[in-house]
Amino acid sequence: MTWGRKIDVHKNITVIPGDGIGPEVVEQALRVLDQIERVHGHRFERVEALAGGAALDATGVPLPAETLETCKASDAVLLGALGGPKWDANPPGKKPETGLLGLRAGLGLYANLRPARVYSALANASTLKRDVVEGVDLLIVRELTGGIYFGKPRGISKEGEEEVGINTEVYRTSEIRRIAKAGFEAARKRRRKLTSVDKANVLEASQLWRRVVTEVANDFPDVELGHLYVDNCAMQLIANPKQFDVVVTSNLFGDILSDEAAMLTGSIGMLPSASLGGSLGMYEPVHGSAPDIAGKDIANPIATIASLAMMLKYSFGLQHESEGIEQAIVSVLEKGFRTADLREEGATIVGTRQMGDLILEEIG
Ligand code: NAD
Repeated sequence: MTWGRKIDVHKNITVIPGDGIGPEVVEQALRVLDQIERVHGHRFERVEALAGGAALDATGVPLPAETLETCKASDAVLLGALGGPKWDANPPGKKPETGLLGLRAGLGLYANLRPARVYSALANASTLKRDVVEGVDLLIVRELTGGIYFGKPRGISKEGEEEVGINTEVYRTSEIRRIAKAGFEAARKRRRKLTSVDKANVLEASQLWRRVVTEVANDFPDVELGHLYVDNCAMQLIANPKQFDVVVTSNLFGDILSDEAAMLTGSIGMLPSASLGGSLGMYEPVHGSAPDIAGKDIANPIATIASLAMMLKYSFGLQHESEGIEQAIVSVLEKGFRTADLREEGATIVGTRQMGDLILEEIG
């Protein structure tokens, strides 16, 4: 009988700090995780693993088999960022990015979740007017392992005097069904509104997409479903972004729309992401390894801390703890603290570690 008693969670996390600012921002996220353990009584075992440039230096390959095995044996993965100028001239199979693609493929991560939330205190950082972006809180769910990026036939061939480039949009019922389900489930954890984006007026693959998403909706009667053509969605994201809660879409449309949505918020140092698959999720900031500011204690750790909040919500079902982290971020920003990338008049500029301190104090 658990009535009236709090149930503590015990999970295993693989931590891949990576390169450049990766280790600095991941360290702050792990300090926040320590605080969640202290406050809520949960246990999160962490195992560190190598990928990207750090793995190339230590083992000669960007994704050691051991790293993939460690990830598969855990409940979730937290990643900093991979890459940097030191490895830019490496041959294709020896580039840090190969490690990232290998992780996504190896873990079967077919759903990419990218929230775009405009914090009131930062609404002036957007290139759009404050009254358009203030209060925006949306989530793009992008299909990550299918569609035109993988479909066949593909390639460039000769046709008489001309060259022809071909790529093919391919979606199977099973692929659409599982990403639609991911979209509905994400909407259930938010404001229960899902917009499916396609180009069903022109593309057959989109017509199937729309039909399957509509069928999946029968299993989620508590979520309101709408459909938009991608050109209209691109326009609506700029004209009235507050209308969106969760947007589910294909690999290509999601690639473009998630960058458009990200820019509503103004700063890359604020944007978290989750990639979900069959058995576990990988969580990482949207930004890269920022070699220009690495090792200076000036990187913004908020994207990584917000990625950790997504892990608690989507992998561990810890909605309350996740919202606690998000609220702590809001409070620190409202008190006027900023890292250097968010510099504005009247703000108090703090370093990476100090931003971590401020956020975990709020959680405490
Ligand atoms: P980047 O995101 O690393 O940096 C772009 C700009 O944003 C830089 O000026 C940087 O200083 C700034 N910036 C990024 N994150 C910041 C943060 N947290 N706080 C403050 N400022 C921040 O992109 P880039 O310069 O194009 O790429 C650098 C390296 O990162 C490359 O090797 C690239 O391949 C790699 N990369 C990795 C990932 C990943 O691991 N997922 C994603 C993108 C780029």
